[in-house]
Amino acid sequence: MSKAYQHCPTCTAILEADKNGYLACSNHECKFVFYHNPTPVVAAIVEYGKDQLVIAHNTLWPPKWFGLITGFVEEFENPDDTVVREVKEELGLDGVVKEFVGHYTFKRMNQLIIAYHVEATGTITLNEELDDYRIVPFDKAKTWPAGTGLALRDFLRKRGYDPQELKFS
Ligand SMILES: [Zn+2]
Repeated sequence: MSKAYQHCPTCTAILEADKNGYLACSNHECKFVFYHNPTPVVAAIVEYGKDQLVIAHNTLWPPKWFGLITGFVEEFENPDDTVVREVKEELGLDGVVKEFVGHYTFKRMNQLIIAYHVEATGTITLNEELDDYRIVPFDKAKTWPAGTGLALRDFLRKRGYDPQELKFS
């Protein structure tokens, strides 16, 4: 059970565990329950040139980490549109969704990853969230054992590759 909040966001009474294990408002007239639903996040496996992947480095990450382009789905936005918008905002590329790859749980961040294969063209221009990128042929790509890495693994395996999985130290 999450300890993310102590007080009810509706009436400010203390939250306490209910009989189902959720944090619920102690004011029984309020009926607020904190379900801790996951946050939907799109991830783009960006193909840039034939059989080549763009991975990027977020300014907040350790130096050697590179990952997929990701972003939050905005209110009322269709995730198919989110992923194209994020590729444009973060890489400056024009993307076309080729395939829905799958959805993946990213437990540490309580996110639901919605992964797409996006073909992209144009000139790479990083936005302020990113400070580096790599263009990696599919047959050299490595995956990692968390939400977006599992999406990349499934994408590559479906195309006949057997990518090495990086370990988190
Ligand atoms: Zn309340």
